[in-house]
Amino acid sequence: MVAGGTARNAADDRCAVHPARPALDRCPVCGRPRCAADAVRHAAAGCAACARPARPVAPPVPVLERLVRAALGALAAALAGGLVAAQYVDAGWLGVVTPAVVGAATGAAAQAASGVVRGPERGRGRTALQVRAIGAGAGVLAVGLGFLLERSRDPVSAGALLPSALAVAGALLWTAPPRRGRRTGGPARRRPGRRPRAGDPGVTARADDPGLTTRG
Ligand SMILES: [Zn+2]
Ligand SMILES: [Zn+2]
Repeated sequence: MVAGGTARNAADDRCAVHPARPALDRCPVCGRPRCAADAVRHAAAGCAACARPARPVAPPVPVLERLVRAALGALAAALAGGLVAAQYVDAGWLGVVTPAVVGAATGAAAQAASGVVRGPERGRGRTALQVRAIGAGAGVLAVGLGFLLERSRDPVSAGALLPSALAVAGALLWTAPPRRGRRTGGPARRRPGRRPRAGDPGVTARADDPGLTTRG
């Protein structure tokens, strides 16, 4: 018989979260029976059922670590990119496009590996700039590696200048911060008398738009 007249369930003698353990007290927050381990761990904050686990706040990644990560990621991409670039040396328009694509890949790899802030702030700030530079440098390395593997062109020669520049451009453009919206950029200026056409940024072609259909 229990003093005080309160009816107690047998379940109340067990921890609500760990039924194998006997209850020590009741959670001060939700009232569930709590085991000794929970009482020690959560104290006045609650119990294992209701207390938000104190999520450890991830310490900010040091800049150097970000840059090392970026370099490792970019170099890995450069190795793969070099193998690809070697296949397309002097391959017509592919020989022009490939260095830019490889640069974009190394730039993206550097950015992803560094863990720089995503979203609207992507690519902004000093660290982000350094990461982009690392990506661009890795793009040049990748193009050079391609020439080394392909063996028809010296990677340190005038002939390697344009592909290297294309790799840098690819890396920088690919990792460029997104354009600010109209709010900060001001209203978009449009030349007077010019209709927006399909293909213009922000203009989606609509089949029912009379201005876009051609009369046959
Ligand atoms: Zn428990
Ligand atoms: Zn609780």
